[in-house]
Amino acid sequence: MSNVNGNLRPVPLGLVPSFGYGDRLGLATPGHLAAHKGSGFAPIFAQQSIREMARTDRTPTDVMEAARKALSAAGYSDPWGADADHLKTQEDVEYTAAAGFCFFTIDPSEHVVNQADTMDEAALKEAVASQNKDGIYGGDSVEGLYLGKIYSVGGKDLTFTEEPLLRAAVKYGRAIAHCEKMAGFIHAANAGKLYEIEVSVDETDSPTSALEHLFFALELRRRGVTVVSLAPRFIGEFEKGIDYKGDIKAFEEALKVHVAIAREFGPYKVSVHSGSDKFSIYPVIGRVCQNLLHVKTAGTSYLEALRVVARTDAPLFREIVDYSGGRFGTDKVSYHISVTDDDVPGLLKASNDQLEKVFLDEDKGRQVLHVTFGSVLTKGNTAAGQSFKGAIMDILEKHADLHAEVLEKHLGKHLKQLRAG
Ligand SMILES: [Zn+2]
Repeated sequence: MSNVNGNLRPVPLGLVPSFGYGDRLGLATPGHLAAHKGSGFAPIFAQQSIREMARTDRTPTDVMEAARKALSAAGYSDPWGADADHLKTQEDVEYTAAAGFCFFTIDPSEHVVNQADTMDEAALKEAVASQNKDGIYGGDSVEGLYLGKIYSVGGKDLTFTEEPLLRAAVKYGRAIAHCEKMAGFIHAANAGKLYEIEVSVDETDSPTSALEHLFFALELRRRGVTVVSLAPRFIGEFEKGIDYKGDIKAFEEALKVHVAIAREFGPYKVSVHSGSDKFSIYPVIGRVCQNLLHVKTAGTSYLEALRVVARTDAPLFREIVDYSGGRFGTDKVSYHISVTDDDVPGLLKASNDQLEKVFLDEDKGRQVLHVTFGSVLTKGNTAAGQSFKGAIMDILEKHADLHAEVLEKHLGKHLKQLRAG
């Protein structure tokens, strides 16, 4: 394997502020690199979730090689990371480790019990009794480990009184046990190589409370699982591809507590998923998290690629938009968005000169294109019979300068806002 500069291999980045540049097409790294320069964030240039690889018909090696090739061509010689995102199984771990990924994001969401938020006391007690019986807490019980314990977090006391403790345990206890298992698979798959682990519960229904985050941190520590970052589910709405929706002041107060827990019971970084386009809260995030920050973006770079299409081949962009409108009803499932089927016909009526604005600058149109990327990139064809993906790739190669320029501008805006607080 060529490794001319000795650094074309990704490395763990550690506890420095970092930024993940997901790239669904494999041609975005030059633009990402331009945005990254002088940003003060350590970059993750290869980052894709297992779900996204499946939706784009890419392998972990494809993702890795696309980044490596671009970095090599640019003569890049600083450290960079590679994030195997949202891993759920041992197979996911082995598949991505074999391709050289060194940042492993464990997604235990299938073991998170969202209903814990609304269960009554009897149901909580029953669920915890079953966890204790299953040995989730080793020879101990969750009550024995935590009931009545007080932890000082950022100068304030957090106390595990009975009901909140039971709720935290029911919600996350089995998920944390799954993280320990996954950490074992990651360790085994990396025999002797350096790696780092993130745990993400961002894709769950209910926000992660301070006490629940503390419970998570303490349980990871008790189990000897060291993480470099943890992605809680924050309050407010982190919809794909658009700005934050919610109370920014309340977000800031909750974030302060998350960061204090991460600092005092890790230390690890707080990871912000669906981090694309959350411009209104970036200054708060940058200021509150300081060095303990990781941000992940992905879909926003795909939308910038489509912007290149919109500006250089308007008829093709119209075809992609129409196709996406047709796929929306099916593809929106599993996404957290607010645009609905009823919005689509109106959006599709946009005139040619409004099409870029409606579908790439406004929330509803952005979300339609955002959730249909998998269909566009693996199923859709132009009227002339070429695959959309092939047609998009041809345009991006032909207009590589414009592609890099729009990415630098858009991702650069993200990085600038994160430093604006
Ligand atoms: Zn995520």
